[in-house]
Amino acid sequence: MNYVYYISLGSNLGDRQAYLDQAILGLKQQAGIISVEASTWLETPPWGNTEQGRFLNGVAKVVSSLAPEAMLQGMQQLEQAAGRQRIIHWGPRTLDLDIVWAETEGGAPLTVATEALIIPHPYLWDRTFVLIPLKELYPHFTFRGQTIGTRIAELEA
Ligand code: AMP
Repeated sequence: MNYVYYISLGSNLGDRQAYLDQAILGLKQQAGIISVEASTWLETPPWGNTEQGRFLNGVAKVVSSLAPEAMLQGMQQLEQAAGRQRIIHWGPRTLDLDIVWAETEGGAPLTVATEALIIPHPYLWDRTFVLIPLKELYPHFTFRGQTIGTRIAELEA
Protein backbone atom coordinates (compact mmCIF):
# COMPACT_ATOMS: atom_id res chain seq x y z
CA MET A 1 0.00 0.00 0.00
CA ASN A 2 1.23 3.48 -0.77
CA TYR A 3 0.81 6.59 1.33
CA VAL A 4 0.56 10.23 0.37
CA TYR A 5 2.41 12.54 2.75
CA TYR A 6 2.18 16.32 2.83
CA ILE A 7 5.41 17.57 4.36
CA SER A 8 6.00 21.17 5.38
CA LEU A 9 9.50 22.51 4.83
CA GLY A 10 11.05 25.54 6.50
CA SER A 11 14.45 27.21 6.72
CA ASN A 12 15.61 30.51 8.21
CA LEU A 13 19.38 30.12 8.37
CA GLY A 14 22.01 30.38 5.63
CA ASP A 15 21.05 29.72 2.02
CA ARG A 16 17.41 28.95 2.74
CA GLN A 17 16.43 28.17 -0.84
CA ALA A 18 19.34 25.76 -1.23
CA TYR A 19 18.34 23.90 1.96
CA LEU A 20 14.75 23.50 0.72
CA ASP A 21 15.81 22.49 -2.82
CA GLN A 22 18.31 20.03 -1.35
CA ALA A 23 15.59 18.52 0.85
CA ILE A 24 13.41 17.92 -2.23
CA LEU A 25 16.32 16.23 -4.01
CA GLY A 26 17.09 14.20 -0.89
CA LEU A 27 13.48 13.02 -0.60
CA LYS A 28 13.49 11.98 -4.25
CA GLN A 29 16.59 9.86 -3.69
CA GLN A 30 15.34 7.95 -0.65
CA ALA A 31 14.32 4.31 -0.92
CA GLY A 32 10.58 3.78 -0.90
CA ILE A 33 9.78 7.19 -2.39
CA ILE A 34 7.65 7.03 -5.52
CA SER A 35 7.15 10.70 -6.36
CA VAL A 36 7.79 14.16 -4.91
CA GLU A 37 6.02 17.34 -5.94
CA ALA A 38 7.02 20.66 -4.38
CA SER A 39 4.96 23.82 -3.94
CA THR A 40 6.47 27.22 -4.59
CA TRP A 41 8.52 28.60 -1.68
CA LEU A 42 7.18 31.59 0.19
CA GLU A 43 8.88 33.95 2.62
CA THR A 44 7.16 34.34 5.98
CA PRO A 45 7.79 36.09 9.30
CA PRO A 46 9.11 33.86 12.12
CA TRP A 47 6.58 31.97 14.23
CA GLY A 48 6.77 31.42 17.97
CA ASN A 49 10.10 33.05 18.83
CA THR A 50 9.96 36.23 16.70
CA GLU A 51 13.57 37.34 17.37
CA GLN A 52 14.98 35.48 14.38
CA GLY A 53 15.25 35.72 10.60
CA ARG A 54 12.39 35.29 8.15
CA PHE A 55 11.58 31.79 6.97
CA LEU A 56 11.33 30.32 3.53
CA ASN A 57 8.50 27.79 3.64
CA GLY A 58 6.76 25.33 1.38
CA VAL A 59 5.05 21.96 1.22
CA ALA A 60 5.95 18.75 -0.63
CA LYS A 61 3.51 16.05 -1.68
CA VAL A 62 5.29 12.73 -1.36
CA VAL A 63 3.91 9.40 -2.55
CA SER A 64 5.73 6.65 -0.68
CA SER A 65 5.56 3.00 0.25
CA LEU A 66 7.07 3.86 3.66
CA ALA A 67 4.95 3.70 6.80
CA PRO A 68 4.84 6.97 8.78
CA GLU A 69 7.62 6.12 11.26
CA ALA A 70 10.02 5.15 8.46
CA MET A 71 9.07 8.26 6.53
CA LEU A 72 9.85 10.41 9.58
CA GLN A 73 13.25 8.72 10.02
CA GLY A 74 14.22 9.56 6.46
CA MET A 75 13.15 13.17 6.99
CA GLN A 76 15.24 13.42 10.16
CA GLN A 77 18.28 12.17 8.25
CA LEU A 78 17.77 15.01 5.79
CA GLU A 79 17.47 17.54 8.65
CA GLN A 80 20.73 16.24 10.09
CA ALA A 81 22.43 16.35 6.70
CA ALA A 82 21.48 20.03 6.56
CA GLY A 83 23.49 20.54 9.75
CA ARG A 84 20.47 21.17 11.87
CA GLN A 85 21.15 21.58 15.57
CA ARG A 86 18.31 21.60 18.06
CA ILE A 87 19.48 24.38 20.33
CA ILE A 88 16.53 26.67 20.89
CA HIS A 89 12.92 25.46 20.78
CA TRP A 90 11.24 27.24 17.86
CA GLY A 91 14.62 28.93 17.21
CA PRO A 92 16.52 29.38 13.92
CA ARG A 93 17.01 26.24 11.84
CA THR A 94 18.64 25.31 8.55
CA LEU A 95 15.91 22.79 7.75
CA ASP A 96 12.69 21.77 9.44
CA LEU A 97 10.54 19.00 7.98
CA ASP A 98 7.14 18.06 9.44
CA ILE A 99 4.49 15.66 8.26
CA VAL A 100 1.41 17.88 8.36
CA TRP A 101 -1.11 15.55 6.72
CA ALA A 102 -1.12 11.97 5.43
CA GLU A 103 -3.58 9.69 3.69
CA THR A 104 -3.72 6.48 1.72
CA GLU A 105 -3.55 6.70 -2.06
CA GLY A 106 -7.28 6.06 -1.96
CA GLY A 107 -7.75 9.27 0.05
CA ALA A 108 -8.43 7.78 3.50
CA PRO A 109 -6.92 10.05 6.18
CA LEU A 110 -4.12 8.59 8.29
CA THR A 111 -4.02 9.30 12.01
CA VAL A 112 -0.98 8.64 14.17
CA ALA A 113 -0.59 9.59 17.82
CA THR A 114 2.59 8.19 19.35
CA GLU A 115 5.31 9.88 21.40
CA ALA A 116 7.40 10.40 18.26
CA LEU A 117 4.74 11.29 15.76
CA ILE A 118 1.43 13.10 15.63
CA ILE A 119 -0.53 13.15 12.35
CA PRO A 120 -2.35 15.36 11.48
CA HIS A 121 0.23 17.80 12.78
CA PRO A 122 -1.25 19.67 15.79
CA TYR A 123 -0.72 23.07 14.14
CA LEU A 124 -1.79 22.05 10.63
CA TRP A 125 -4.91 24.23 10.66
CA ASP A 126 -3.34 27.26 12.37
CA ARG A 127 -0.46 28.26 10.13
CA THR A 128 -0.91 30.07 6.84
CA PHE A 129 2.71 29.26 5.91
CA VAL A 130 1.61 25.62 5.81
CA LEU A 131 -1.90 26.10 4.41
CA ILE A 132 -1.04 28.43 1.51
CA PRO A 133 1.49 26.04 -0.10
CA LEU A 134 -0.67 23.03 0.85
CA LYS A 135 -3.56 24.56 -1.07
CA GLU A 136 -1.36 24.74 -4.16
CA LEU A 137 -0.85 20.96 -4.07
CA TYR A 138 -4.23 20.00 -2.60
CA PRO A 139 -6.78 22.65 -3.64
CA HIS A 140 -9.82 20.63 -2.54
CA PHE A 141 -8.45 19.81 0.91
CA THR A 142 -11.00 20.04 3.72
CA PHE A 143 -10.47 19.56 7.47
CA ARG A 144 -12.89 19.82 10.37
CA GLY A 145 -15.71 20.48 7.91
CA GLN A 146 -14.00 23.54 6.43
CA THR A 147 -12.33 24.07 3.05
CA ILE A 148 -8.69 25.09 3.01
CA GLY A 149 -9.54 28.31 1.16
CA THR A 150 -12.05 29.33 3.83
CA ARG A 151 -9.57 28.57 6.59
CA ILE A 152 -6.81 30.66 4.98
CA ALA A 153 -9.21 33.58 4.57
CA GLU A 154 -10.23 33.23 8.22
CA LEU A 155 -6.61 33.23 9.45
CA GLU A 156 -5.73 36.22 7.26
CA ALA A 157 -8.74 38.31 8.35
P1 AMP B 1 10.87 20.01 15.88
O1 AMP B 1 12.11 20.17 16.69
O2 AMP B 1 9.85 21.10 16.09
O3 AMP B 1 11.13 19.77 14.42
O4 AMP B 1 10.15 18.69 16.40
C1 AMP B 1 10.65 17.47 16.00
C2 AMP B 1 10.04 16.36 16.82
O5 AMP B 1 8.64 16.34 16.66
C3 AMP B 1 10.56 15.03 16.38
O6 AMP B 1 11.29 14.47 17.42
C4 AMP B 1 9.34 14.18 16.05
O7 AMP B 1 9.41 12.94 16.66
C5 AMP B 1 8.19 15.00 16.60
N1 AMP B 1 6.98 14.97 15.75
C6 AMP B 1 5.72 14.73 16.21
N2 AMP B 1 4.84 14.78 15.22
C7 AMP B 1 5.52 15.07 14.08
C8 AMP B 1 5.15 15.25 12.73
N3 AMP B 1 3.86 15.15 12.31
N4 AMP B 1 6.13 15.53 11.83
C9 AMP B 1 7.41 15.64 12.23
N5 AMP B 1 7.82 15.50 13.49
C10 AMP B 1 6.90 15.20 14.43
